[in-house]
Amino acid sequence: MGKNINEIIEQAVNTGRLTKTDVVTLLSSSGEDAAALFAAADGVRKSQMGDEVHLRGLIEFSNYCERNCTYCGLRSSHKDLARYRMEEEEILAVAAAAVPLGYRTVVLQSGEDSYYDAQTVASIVHRLKKELGLVITLSLGERNRDEYKLWKDAGADRYLLKHETADADLYAALHPDMTWERRRQSLLTLRELGYQVGSGCMVGLPGQTLNALAEDLLFLQALDVEMAGIGPFVPNPHTPLAKAEGGTVEMTLKMIAVARLLLPKAHLPATTALGSIDKQGRQKALTGGANVVMPNITPNRYRRMYEIYPNKICLDDNPAHCRNCIGGIIASLGRHVADGPGHSPKDCFSGLAG
Ligand code: SAH
Ligand code: SF4
Repeated sequence: MGKNINEIIEQAVNTGRLTKTDVVTLLSSSGEDAAALFAAADGVRKSQMGDEVHLRGLIEFSNYCERNCTYCGLRSSHKDLARYRMEEEEILAVAAAAVPLGYRTVVLQSGEDSYYDAQTVASIVHRLKKELGLVITLSLGERNRDEYKLWKDAGADRYLLKHETADADLYAALHPDMTWERRRQSLLTLRELGYQVGSGCMVGLPGQTLNALAEDLLFLQALDVEMAGIGPFVPNPHTPLAKAEGGTVEMTLKMIAVARLLLPKAHLPATTALGSIDKQGRQKALTGGANVVMPNITPNRYRRMYEIYPNKICLDDNPAHCRNCIGGIIASLGRHVADGPGHSPKDCFSGLAG
């Protein structure tokens, strides 16, 4: 006879290891069993990461994209989308405004936009570090090793590149002109260069099986990521996947919870996408394993144009409002906003200055 849910959860909490079959069993749970999974994940979060919630200020600095991912509103075939780019000085100004709000980390994110050459990005990174003392996460998609290295040398601390799905066939179907193998190689390169590596996946992609979701989690564990962003796929009406079903809140929460059991010391964000499909989505994630929130600090005039998926929350809010709102949510859960830089607690990163 197979193990029951409680035995699987207990094994995961004690050893941090699960077979793919056991992960699938956890992802299939519902009712009391799912509640036990969330409680276990919350317990591991508390014992390993404490009650602090880390804030990362997200700057969506360009919505130009040369890729054509079938799920994403920024894809190059979406010709009706008004496009924008922020220049270096504007990015610096947005980041400077985030410092008095208490942000210690900014995440610079964009479509894959070669307008920003390697030197320009290096200069922005260098100045954000030197002039503002910020911790820098980059999320600019796939670039070559030399570029990743230049940015690391310029002071970038972290890189966020979601693997999206570890099912190579599904990856190929969703990403014209991109390959799973190159994605994997890019992540290995980032790891080798000494970045704190963030990866992650979407939940509820068309054709994505429970087995594939289990592989996502085991891939993140094998890569031993410092951060794992797990959010629901939200169908975008301006893409070929307009009519797809999309991910559920429940499955996304189970994925985050199992990620916490498999990666006890990873930073796990309560994603904006989850907050967009459920008003309480981020609260539920924060009480089921997550310990990070990434409030949007992009200027209002651009937010609507960074429409990766529809119905994004906080489109009309300014950074100060978002900071207060998030602070309120965190306090209401009996948690508090972290003061420190929020580096990975792994030994190799915990001594970093800042
Ligand atoms: N171009 C960069 C960063 C911007 S896209 C990159 O691709 O890495 C950031 C993330 O948005 C992607 O990793 C993807 O997981 C997510 N995303 C794109 N379209 C989405 C959708 N329809 N629903 C939910 N998440 C989506
Ligand atoms: Fe571009 Fe990233 Fe969207 Fe793909 S997911 S189309 S790379 S912005």
